[in-house]
Amino acid sequence: MTLGDAAAIRRAIAAREVSAVDVCRASLDRIEALNGALNAFITVDAERALRRAASLDDGPATVRDLPLFGVPIAVKDNICTRGLRTTAGSRILEHYTPPYSATVIERVEAAGAIVVGKTNCDEFAMGSSTEHSAFGPARNPWAHDRTPGGSSGGSAIAVATGMTPIALGSETGGSVRQPAALCGVLGFKPTYGRISRYGLIAFGSSMDQIGPLATNVTDLATVLQVLAGEDLRDSSCARRPADDYSAMLNAGARGLRIGIPSRILAEGIEEGVRAAFDAATEALRDAGASLIDIELPHARYATPAYAIVAMAEASSNLGRYDGVRYGHRGEKTSSLRDMYTSTRAAFGREVKRRVLLGTYVLSGGYYDAFYTKAQQVRALLRRDYETAFEQVDVVATPTSPTTAFPLGARVEDPLQMYLADVLTVSANLTGLPAISVPCGFAEGLPVGLQLTGRAWDEATLLRGAAAITNR
Ligand code: GLN
Repeated sequence: MTLGDAAAIRRAIAAREVSAVDVCRASLDRIEALNGALNAFITVDAERALRRAASLDDGPATVRDLPLFGVPIAVKDNICTRGLRTTAGSRILEHYTPPYSATVIERVEAAGAIVVGKTNCDEFAMGSSTEHSAFGPARNPWAHDRTPGGSSGGSAIAVATGMTPIALGSETGGSVRQPAALCGVLGFKPTYGRISRYGLIAFGSSMDQIGPLATNVTDLATVLQVLAGEDLRDSSCARRPADDYSAMLNAGARGLRIGIPSRILAEGIEEGVRAAFDAATEALRDAGASLIDIELPHARYATPAYAIVAMAEASSNLGRYDGVRYGHRGEKTSSLRDMYTSTRAAFGREVKRRVLLGTYVLSGGYYDAFYTKAQQVRALLRRDYETAFEQVDVVATPTSPTTAFPLGARVEDPLQMYLADVLTVSANLTGLPAISVPCGFAEGLPVGLQLTGRAWDEATLLRGAAAITNR
């Protein structure tokens, strides 16, 4: 069988046309057939997945009403899964099997989903191409010599190729939206605090969020519904009940006020990306939305501010990999210092670069010049969006300035790699929700359109995304 989307799977199982085991097998077969070429998964545990599918099939009839009953899901390898290896794409955690599951895992499992495996990602989610994975680069399903994007590249591939209908990724600066765009699927970054971070391996804690990927808006809304809401184990998770995310999916584009920051879009966007973006926004206008020119005066400082904040927080968060409590320990242990040094030598180059730069921007004498400045930019950027949202309901840009770039093209040039995120990092710095929706192709490669919304207004983003899909 070929897997349909999550809603179709659930319907087919409910009608007893197929069993959860059949669906799980189909997902595992597809992974088996494609993973050699694409390297989307670091770990697949077929036995564990099939066991769980069988127990769902044997369970009481009432569980069949669960929103994700029998739906296979792929999970980025920086989200802890009890009893299932979780590496964060790093040699440091190569042999780490968490004794607990992230809250999001508990929630999708309680909703009936089946975790089939853990997806490839840049080491500790630091990257935009999945080439900084210690387990080898992942490949774009549309062109195997190109990147799937990153850092949640494996999750985007899994969904784009139908290995699993849905996946979880994580975002610090665009790591769900950008690979979703480059692989031609939907990716969602919720408002900071909407989804629990408990069990997400920390990178930049003031920006990190878990987000779902799917092939359509309905599935995305279903997963968001399952994930959203308070969690007492994460004090940064809001005590705000989830909204009804499916309620506005059919509201259409009529009356939607879409802000276009034309000054930002004037430079650095590939022609084909720009053309696909313009065609999609014009179609929305034809369907009754209004396109309003807006200014985000401080957005041009977002990339440097993001780099400073992300690296500062990373240098602090990664201090815990000291070879003592868990994870890899270096061989050379004649002194404590040697032990730290040889342990931390296992980090890849990009992680080391960020720990060093992050420590630098936080050090005495430089803190105010870099870290404090970056936080000030963050406040100004927030104000830019508040001003824009007095006039518009959502802000539209392409998700990525380019389509999928060739493997190897940027990996030696960190600045070029960071520029892949120019259009995505603002949502992370401000905490606002944002979504990437497929909006067309440029030279055979997918293009994503990004909508950014008001804090907590995920429902309007989903409405806008549905309007784009149905245009
Ligand atoms: N590509 C960005 C970075 O390298 C964002 C990564 C992410 O969102 N996890 O930091």
